[in-house]
Parts: sequence; structure tokens; C-alpha cells
Amino acid sequence: MSDGNHINIGSMGDANHINIAQHHSLQPTAIQFDIDTSSVERLSRKNVNKGAVGFFLSLPLLALSFMSIVADAFGILSYFNIGSRVPAYVIMVIAMLGLLFFNQKRKIATTTIPPNQAKFIDGRWVERDENGDYLLYRKAAPCNYKDCRGTVHIQTPPPRELHNHDLIGVCDIGGKQHTYRVDFNGIGERQHFDWRPAEQNKP
Ligand SMILES: [Zn+2]
Repeated sequence: MSDGNHINIGSMGDANHINIAQHHSLQPTAIQFDIDTSSVERLSRKNVNKGAVGFFLSLPLLALSFMSIVADAFGILSYFNIGSRVPAYVIMVIAMLGLLFFNQKRKIATTTIPPNQAKFIDGRWVERDENGDYLLYRKAAPCNYKDCRGTVHIQTPPPRELHNHDLIGVCDIGGKQHTYRVDFNGIGERQHFDWRPAEQNKP
């Protein structure tokens, strides 16, 4: 336990040091995103592929259980004297949990990630190493609005900003008031965004 704490404090100090050093060359309103070392996770290729298989196996299970419940509602099951509806509901819940649980690995397995590139999938960057295994991590930066001690995390933009931005930074304390556009080189620059829901198609 104490060793773990020590490592955390040490690595946070390093990150702070790097950020302070980089701020000299940045605009005063800009922030530099760095890998959040506590978020790094390694997934083997096997693990990711198993997850994707789990996802695609859950799909027909969900369809079958759903059809079975519909059939039961119309009295088809009892006509054929086939079991109760309880197993169908259980299977449906398991299949839905399976879809949720395996969905991220399905996305990772079906995304083409060129060497030395990282793709943003469900809030995390994903890279592949030379063995084909995956490295997942988040990037964060300290918020630079006055007196804010928040951390800026990267996320996908709201619907009305999708055409202008691939990714944006949002402060975990200042929220929608402390937001940044994110450049390809990992620099964030203060910018406000339109958070209204997508425009409805007017008749
Ligand atoms: Zn902030």
C-alpha cells in the first residue's frame, strides 16, 4: 500500500514538472495534454479478440431470447408447450450485459490502428505494439482558468460542434465554462462550444 502511494506521488510530481517546463513555450491560455500514467492499461490481442467474439455471440442470443418472449406474448410457446418465459428473460439480460461488457473490445478489435498511431475509442487512446497487443490510456492537462484546480479530460464534442472538432477538452470542475479545442499535437486552447442538442429537422 505505502509503496503504491509513493509511486503515485512521485509520478504526479514528474507530470507537474513537465507541465511547468512546457508552459514557457505555450500561449498563456493554452494547455499541454499528457498521458495520465494512472490510466495506462495493456490488453493482449487475445483478450481483445475474445471480447469481440463475446460481443458477436451475444447478438444472436439477444435476438433469440427476444423472439422467444414475443412468441410467448402471442401464445405460440404455450401452443407448442415449450417452457416458461423466465429463461428467455434471463438469457436476454445476460445477452444485453454481454453486449455492453464486450462493446469496447469489439470497437478496438474492429478499428484499424496503423503502427505508431493512436485512435480515440470510448474516451481512451488505443495503440498497438509490435506484437499486436494494445495499449490504452487517457490524456489530461491541468485547467488554466484563473484559480481553477480542475483537470481537463479529452472527449468527443457535442453534436453541433462535430463538424468543426474531432475532440475537445472539458474541465472536471469548471465543466462547460472551462473548455478547450484540442489540436493534433496535444495542445489545448481555450474555446467555448455550443452545447445545445442537435438541430431538429424542421418540416
Ligand atoms: Zn477548470
